[in-house]
Amino acid sequence: MSEDKVSRREFLSKSTMAASTVVAGSSTAKDHAQEDGHHEHEQSDYALRTKALVAVLTRKNLVNPASMDAVVDLYETKIGPHIGARMVARSWVDENYRQRLLEDARAVAREDNLTGIEGTDLVAVENTSEVHNLVVCTLCSCYPWPLLGLPPTWYKDAAYRAQSVIDPRGVLKKFGLALDDEIEVRVWDSTAEVRYLVIPERPLGSEGMSVEQLEKLVTRDSMVGAEILNSSSAGEEA
Ligand code: FE
Repeated sequence: MSEDKVSRREFLSKSTMAASTVVAGSSTAKDHAQEDGHHEHEQSDYALRTKALVAVLTRKNLVNPASMDAVVDLYETKIGPHIGARMVARSWVDENYRQRLLEDARAVAREDNLTGIEGTDLVAVENTSEVHNLVVCTLCSCYPWPLLGLPPTWYKDAAYRAQSVIDPRGVLKKFGLALDDEIEVRVWDSTAEVRYLVIPERPLGSEGMSVEQLEKLVTRDSMVGAEILNSSSAGEEA
């Protein structure tokens, strides 16, 4: 019985190789198989699983590889945290925009055409000297893609998803954020319907900067609540 048992990694590797043989054709397939075999132990389970899935879906003509490439290109080169950073920087200099964002981020996102995939309902929360906000998806990895691009690996990690709701201060400490005890920490659990954007505090020393300069100070992690923008980073970038 145990001889028939195939490990998940073995199964995924074999599926990938078998499918790539069909996709790639006879001469190159052998090279691919050799290449895959060579790199097999270096690839993560996720990478193997993804390759197997892509290969099988392509083989069954359920997806078009060109469409998949277009989606990957969209999230690699066009959509990214620079979009959220622009919103944050604008909220720092335009009080009216900031209020609208906090009151109804969905409406602002709609105006800016930012309601695509994974960004249906947006809620903006602001960090202040009294409150620090942290965003998580305890169930999976829901994230405001149209504003921040693809989520970082740690955001999808089971440890982050579990611990951020049990011990947010401990998690923030691991990110290098030592918050004063008086600061209230609020954790927001994203869902398939609602995604959150944290408006980080404007760094000290950034007075007088243009919106374009301010945008460059805003990091992806700060818009999830995992980073505080401090005056030294403002000084470096200025
Ligand atoms: Fe999720």
